[in-house]
Amino acid sequence: MWFSLIADCYEKIEATTKRFEMTDHLVALLKLTPPDIIEKVVYLTQGKLYPDFIDVQTGIAEKLALQAVSKAVGKSGREIEEDLAKTGDLGETAQKFLAKKTQATLFKVAPLTVEAVYGTLDRMARSSGTGSMTKKLTFLAGLLTSATPKEAKYIMRIVMGNMRLGIADMTVLDALAIAYGGGGEARVTLERAYNVSSDLGKVAKVVVEKGLKAVEKFEVSVGNPIRPMMAERLGSSEEILEKLDSGFMAEFKYDGERIQAHKQGRKVTLFSRRLENITDQYPDAVGLIQRHVNAEKAIVEAEAVAIDVDTNELKPFQELMHRRRKYGIKEAMKEYPISLFLFDLLYADGDDYTLKPYLVRHMKLEQIITKTDRVKTAESTIVYNIEDLESFFEKAVENGCEGLMCKSTGKGSVYQAGARGWMWIKYKREYKSEMTDTVDLVIIGAFHGRGKRAGTYGAFLLATYNPEKDIFETITKCGTGFTDEDLRKLPEIMNKHKIVHKHARVKSMLEANVWFEPAVVIEVMGAEITISPVHTCAMDTIRKDSGLAIRFPRFTGNYRLDKSAENATTDREIGEMYQRQLRKLKES
Ligand code: ATP
Repeated sequence: MWFSLIADCYEKIEATTKRFEMTDHLVALLKLTPPDIIEKVVYLTQGKLYPDFIDVQTGIAEKLALQAVSKAVGKSGREIEEDLAKTGDLGETAQKFLAKKTQATLFKVAPLTVEAVYGTLDRMARSSGTGSMTKKLTFLAGLLTSATPKEAKYIMRIVMGNMRLGIADMTVLDALAIAYGGGGEARVTLERAYNVSSDLGKVAKVVVEKGLKAVEKFEVSVGNPIRPMMAERLGSSEEILEKLDSGFMAEFKYDGERIQAHKQGRKVTLFSRRLENITDQYPDAVGLIQRHVNAEKAIVEAEAVAIDVDTNELKPFQELMHRRRKYGIKEAMKEYPISLFLFDLLYADGDDYTLKPYLVRHMKLEQIITKTDRVKTAESTIVYNIEDLESFFEKAVENGCEGLMCKSTGKGSVYQAGARGWMWIKYKREYKSEMTDTVDLVIIGAFHGRGKRAGTYGAFLLATYNPEKDIFETITKCGTGFTDEDLRKLPEIMNKHKIVHKHARVKSMLEANVWFEPAVVIEVMGAEITISPVHTCAMDTIRKDSGLAIRFPRFTGNYRLDKSAENATTDREIGEMYQRQLRKLKES
């Protein structure tokens, strides 16, 4: 398959401002793709070479990428760098210089194929150790020499880990359903397969080669992370008891990092909430799972929490952040020790537990663990009335937890991979007062700063995620809470997500000065949620022609690096927070 076909399609996707057109272009591309390279095309389309959980570093340093462009176009590094300062996108810079070169030399080379581009990028990603820099440079410069200017743009963006197309997993699933599943309805089946495998390429390959029936048979497998189940939230014991009327278990909600551990014999792999491989970060957790999970093959979920080893007291989440590093892991492990609190079992020795009710999963988990001070299951109890729930909640808070997770024990209480539903309800201390809970919002636009903030951004346009429509809806404009350091850093962080017009998956009535692909998530706190005629979040659901907005938003300082844009707070959650606020207002 010619790489130019892909590049043409990417260009069309980049040009569109409509979500459905984006899907149409993607459908056309997938239909054109030969079955044996469908996974590759799916990964490339998201600017990747493999699914996220594969621990191979695809991207290269900017300096090296610059050298490759310079070598391929025969211009000095300084010239390239100067242009890059203007465009902020090495893809665009490479395209420009290559266009000039092609005009000047007019020589023809054999066209690039997708197979050749993928193969070279794969070899680049896998070369490591001494001499690998030179190899990478030679590979990349070679590719660029054979590329058209347009192809070069996308090749550079892939190696910079920065496609700017913003094609989400759900968009790909929609397109696959239309192209190969017989229509939009097939998306549910494809989504379940994706939820248990976290591998869009694999789902694509199976549906293209074996059809939808084979996709239905997708199974959980050790080594392939399962997309996490997520919780809704409620603000009072009464509401929780009412909602979970077929019975539930309340568990301490620990304030740490979620880990999904896959064990196969002695081999243990750990995945983060975003399903990235974090095994190297937690050698202590690996050891604990090896020694204390008594099953040959298992998938368990746990919260890793920083602790004081002398008192066994739990420490706040911020302590654990010191563990997020590449170097000095052994020292950090000693300085910031952890305990594991296991809270779910998804697979054990040949049995898929995701389709079993919660109590079955819970009991099996209790059976296969040898408990110690450092490995426990989440403290839990079955609750029947408000008093018990309240006193268990107080106990959780006293013990340094955030609150409770209330989990349905009803018949349908399966593990809903990748979904946020009412089977799990989080109940935190903050919900007891008016909008004091934070929300996680996506930066989709920015406004230029003035006065003290001239030259950087003055405020950001933030959005929630609407999973039904797979779009981002604006909810607030936020310029408060950013330190000088944030304001210096943010243009750097956001630069690589800059796009020329509003992204096709963004619905906004406001015109920002700068637009971004939806990628970066920040935590925001506000005073209250109000009805708004200018924001599109939950538009028409509470009042006709109005959406919801956050009043007096403030950045908390927390960049939610563990969340992708699609993990941001949803329009529905905001709607529920608004209703809760109304109820409280009426009560007082
Ligand atoms: P979410 O994961 O729901 O998108 P979030 O990352 O902002 O949101 P919270 O809303 O605070 O986190 O709560 C959910 C998280 O609580 C889980 O992802 C998990 O990391 C953590 N957690 C702690 N204790 C438990 C428990 N007993 N059962 C399930 N999750 C727990």
